[in-house]
Amino acid sequence: MVPMPDAQRKRVQLPEPPFKVEGRLAEEVAALCDERFEGCYQCGTCSAGCPFVEEMDITPDEVIRFIIMDKKSVLSSKTIWLCSSCFLCAERCPRDINITKIMEALRQLVLRQNIDRLRTSDLPESERRQIPQIAYVSLFRKSIG
Ligand code: SF4
Ligand code: SF4
Repeated sequence: MVPMPDAQRKRVQLPEPPFKVEGRLAEEVAALCDERFEGCYQCGTCSAGCPFVEEMDITPDEVIRFIIMDKKSVLSSKTIWLCSSCFLCAERCPRDINITKIMEALRQLVLRQNIDRLRTSDLPESERRQIPQIAYVSLFRKSIG
């Protein structure tokens, strides 16, 4: 079994999100990404290789567990926005689960509710200038689906 990148990390209790999800989260996500995640056996391989796992509030394997358990608080996680869509987890998953597509589906569920957590126009000019260009490109790509 692959060790978790930060086994000592405290489990985060995420607040219930303000988003409305009709029915079970697993069905909503599957409808958007056509991925089957029931086969996940929580080996942690996806999280072990993720380049951003240290910054995430829940790890990629936890994201899958949250979906299976219908814990909609996964939609409030920082993790789904920190995911850079690098496909490393998808490449390494022994069950051939494409977590990158699942992360994108979760973002879509949030974006469809048109809730802005942060408007770049609210940031001071000095901070806006420090945002890397790739962040704007990524935001643009996420916003247009
Ligand atoms: S999604 Fe794949 S790599 Fe990640 S925990 Fe599940 S089976 Fe393991
Ligand atoms: S696609 Fe996202 S979750 Fe998967 S390894 Fe890359 S950053 Fe991590």
